[in-house]
This record gives sequence, structure tokens and C-alpha cells, in this order.
Amino acid sequence: MTLQSGVWEERWHPLREEWIIVAAHRQNRPWIGQTVTTPPPRDPVYDPTCYLCPGNMRVSGNQNPTYGGVYVFDNDHPCVGPLAPPPVTPPWPYRARRADGIARVICFSPAHNQTLAEMAPSAIADVVQVWQQQTYDLGQRPEVNHVLCFENKGAVVGVSNPHPHGQVYATNFVFKTMETELFAAQRFWHDHNRVLMHEIIAAEQQDGRRILYEDDHTIAFVPYFARYAYEVYVVPKRTVAHLYGLNVAESQSLAQAISAVTIRFDNLWQMSFPYVMSLHQAPTDGSQLPFFHAFLAFHPPLRRPDLLKYLAGPEIGGGNFLSDTAPEATAAALQAVTAVHYRASEVQ
Ligand SMILES: [Zn+2]
Repeated sequence: MTLQSGVWEERWHPLREEWIIVAAHRQNRPWIGQTVTTPPPRDPVYDPTCYLCPGNMRVSGNQNPTYGGVYVFDNDHPCVGPLAPPPVTPPWPYRARRADGIARVICFSPAHNQTLAEMAPSAIADVVQVWQQQTYDLGQRPEVNHVLCFENKGAVVGVSNPHPHGQVYATNFVFKTMETELFAAQRFWHDHNRVLMHEIIAAEQQDGRRILYEDDHTIAFVPYFARYAYEVYVVPKRTVAHLYGLNVAESQSLAQAISAVTIRFDNLWQMSFPYVMSLHQAPTDGSQLPFFHAFLAFHPPLRRPDLLKYLAGPEIGGGNFLSDTAPEATAAALQAVTAVHYRASEVQ
């Protein structure tokens, strides 16, 4: 772990077109020690108090069916939705509009105590298929211009219910990150006549030190320009603007890569690894975007088992990230753990 621990430089984030300060020369090497606490006892496979478990009643009074696979429902407390009231017209120069759109919840599994890391790749492939279907279906709606699928996992990102689930926000606007990436990819396409993500994949393959998974269709890596210590991109090799453009083999490969990455996350500190995961997909306004390359990004907030990456002066105040670890070193830490989940031998 000594090789790259002293990196001190600025790295360009080509998708966001901004600088990341990598200041790993100070003291923060990747944490590879054991966690200080023993793993908590396993949650039950069914929790009668969980509003996401099969057959249970939700706060809204709606009852979940006794579902056996992936289950999707309209969010009972939507941030955007058809029932949003008309806006109050503000004074110049302010603007407001109705919070139109659709918000949904996706239960990844009927099992309360499973996470993507512990689900079989075939079951993760079912989740991928639902992301594809939701993106396609919601993207068809005239009021929807973008579909954001994401998962918030872990108490440190505000999710106390361990039941594996993600969300879908189908909005009338394009989320800022994807809009930024769209413009960057468009500029790159114009300047170099190439898909930016293809060049990133090629650069990662040529270096090789940050790759966590690769097969014929998918590659996963800690990007050279990672903002979070253990940030991982899971990228289809073929350019599709939306994940529903992937064929069956490519979708199954994507699921396999998600499995491989999330297992390594959990194994790193032998804990259920928190993260924010989001799908980066193109707008759904019907425009043809041959340069937009869809992918998944995991943003784990922890630098150590008990230490959050706080967003502070540089990030919140200035808008650029300061990273305390070198991506090569954190990738090496993730590569060093076993590819079998540490709880795999426990009785479910
Ligand atoms: Zn549950």
C-alpha cells in the first residue's frame, strides 16, 4: 500500500470538466485494518415492522403484495408527482413551476436482510431489468425529461431501513450531474469525434491498476479522477444512452459487475458498506445522443469504517473535491479482498 500513497496533484474530471485535488501525501492511506466492532447479528429475512417487506402495510394504508421478486410501487411521499400543487408565482428574477413527475420505490428483493452484495447475480439482473423498464416507460411520458434511478444505502446516508431498495425520480428537468456530463461528452464528441467514455475505458485498461472487474461487456474501476475514496464506476463497454439499450448478455454482465463490486465493498471492512449509487442515463426528451454513454456510479461516503468524508470548504464552499486518498491505493485495497462475500457461509 506504499506505492501510490504519496500522490499530491490535481486531476481533471473529464465528465464534470473540473479539477479534483488529490492530497494523499499527508497521512491518509487506505484503511485496511479490521473494523473495531464485530458484525451485528443478521437481520431476519422478514420483519413485521418493515414497510417494504411483502404483505406489510405501509404508512399510506396501502398494502404490499406478497411479492417474490423485484417489486415497484409509487412513492407514498413523492418529491415529484401528478398531485403537486400549482406553484406560487414569485417576483422577478425568481422562477417556480409545478413539481411534476413520478417518484417510485423499487424493492430489490423480498428478503429483508439481503443487499445487492448478497444477492445472486441473476437476481441483480432482475433489478437491472426493472431499471431498464422503468426508464423506458417513464421516459415515454410527455412531462418526463429524465429518469434518475438510485440507491441510498446505509444509515450514514440517511437510510435506517436495511430492506434492499432503490428509488426512481422521473422529473421534468435533467439532473445537474447528467446535464454536465451530457455537455462534456458533447464537447468531446465535437472536438475529437470520439465517445469520451470509450477513451476513459481505454485509459483505465491501459493503466490497469484501478480495475476491479472486467468481462466482454462491462468494466468496473475506481476512476483516475475519483472524488470519493472508494468511488467506483460500473460501465458497459458499448455506448448506449439508456440502460434499456443493452442486450440480455450485456445486462447480465452488468449485474455480474455490480455483484463483484458490492461484494468487495462489504468485504473491505467486513460491514454492510454504505453508498449512494446512481444510474447516469441520458435525458428522455427524445433527442439522439450518440455520445452519451450510460453507466453506474457508486459513491461511498466513508473513508474509514468510522470516518465519513465530510463535504466542507472545498466541496460545499467551492464546488470542487479534495480527495485524501489516491485512487490507485483505494483500488488496490478493494482488489486485495476476497471475491466471496464474508457472510456467504452464514445461515440465511
Ligand atoms: Zn423489509
